[in-house]
Amino acid sequence: MQIATLIFGAGSIGPFASRAFVPAFITAMMMRFTPQYVSFISDDMVAVAADAPGWFTSDICLLILGLLSALEIAATKSPDIRAVFQEVDKYIKPIVAVITYMGIASIQDIGFVQEATQQAGFADSLPALMIGLGVFWLGTLRSGVLGFFIDADEDDDVGVQGLFSWAEDVWALSGPILLILFPIVMLVLIGIVAGILVLARKRAEAKEERSKIACTNCGEMIYGSAVQCFACKTPTAVPRSISFMGRSLDDPTPDPQAHPYKLVEKKHCPVCATRFETRVIHQTCGACGHELFKDPEFANVYLARSDARLPIVLVVSALFSLTPVVGLIPGVIYYRMTLISPLRKYIPRSRAFLLRWGVRILFFFLIMFQWVPVAGGLVVPIMALVNYTVYRSAFKAMLSLEAE
Ligand SMILES: [Zn+2]
Ligand SMILES: [Zn+2]
Repeated sequence: MQIATLIFGAGSIGPFASRAFVPAFITAMMMRFTPQYVSFISDDMVAVAADAPGWFTSDICLLILGLLSALEIAATKSPDIRAVFQEVDKYIKPIVAVITYMGIASIQDIGFVQEATQQAGFADSLPALMIGLGVFWLGTLRSGVLGFFIDADEDDDVGVQGLFSWAEDVWALSGPILLILFPIVMLVLIGIVAGILVLARKRAEAKEERSKIACTNCGEMIYGSAVQCFACKTPTAVPRSISFMGRSLDDPTPDPQAHPYKLVEKKHCPVCATRFETRVIHQTCGACGHELFKDPEFANVYLARSDARLPIVLVVSALFSLTPVVGLIPGVIYYRMTLISPLRKYIPRSRAFLLRWGVRILFFFLIMFQWVPVAGGLVVPIMALVNYTVYRSAFKAMLSLEAE
């Protein structure tokens, strides 16, 4: 086993923590078609790899890895599929990383056949085991931090997840090549990123725990932004305010009257501030048993609050829209976060999917004229208004449909 192979294996933990098939595909392609690449990993492999491709660099393996890579990139572009993927990919990644490492080593072994004695076995499988564990650890860490963003912004209205996903594609595609060009730099870089991820997760957990307070009556730890204890229903003196991302802050809510609505707007229970998991209007809180939108009065006020936001959102959207090209994306993110998100959080995905596509075609034509000075100022407000009308009517329809 050569040092270069080991360094490559250790470094591959980085790209494999992000994607399973993409780094495997790139590695196999490079090994098959660029002898220089192979010679970086091990000088002895070049001749062998060139005239006798192993199973790892065979046509059929390349084809399968290529297809799976394309599927993987496509799957990570949809917030819905990404959330499902998140649950399983931490098991797939270590397996593919180990297979890739063994694929590299297998080619090398052929080259060593004359010299190698039968000392193989445990000593050879140890690096593979370490790489598998490393990918699992870093992949779990990554999905934990990513899960924090998914919780905070399910539909990726802010676009952070989408941006992150593209960055990870670039990383998974270029990582196996950069590893050959700058092995030590890459190892250090992966170490730094792992350290940052550990800190980020620790901070998020500590923040979540700190925001909880003990119920004055029964002592259960409850969310600071809760109106009542989920267990004994004792009201909190003053609920704490809730952040843009739906977390409890340290200061008391400025408007106790509006507080339950604000909780629901961020998809939290209006009573105990526990997060709602499903995208339906009528659901029961898993912690305190509150039945969401069962009270028609609550639903009416919720929609009225939503309507009251419309004029301001339209004015601010117009200001964004008046800036040609540059103002479009922030404008769209702004109105989706403030106006659409409180309604869309409770409309099932299938329904939201059909709605989205109907509206998308209209928006395509609108966006083409956003660059026009002055007149372009109308584009984002029109998009906001159309979107709001569609989601509002879907919300109302489901409200009455499910109530029966
Ligand atoms: Zn209590
Ligand atoms: Zn509750």
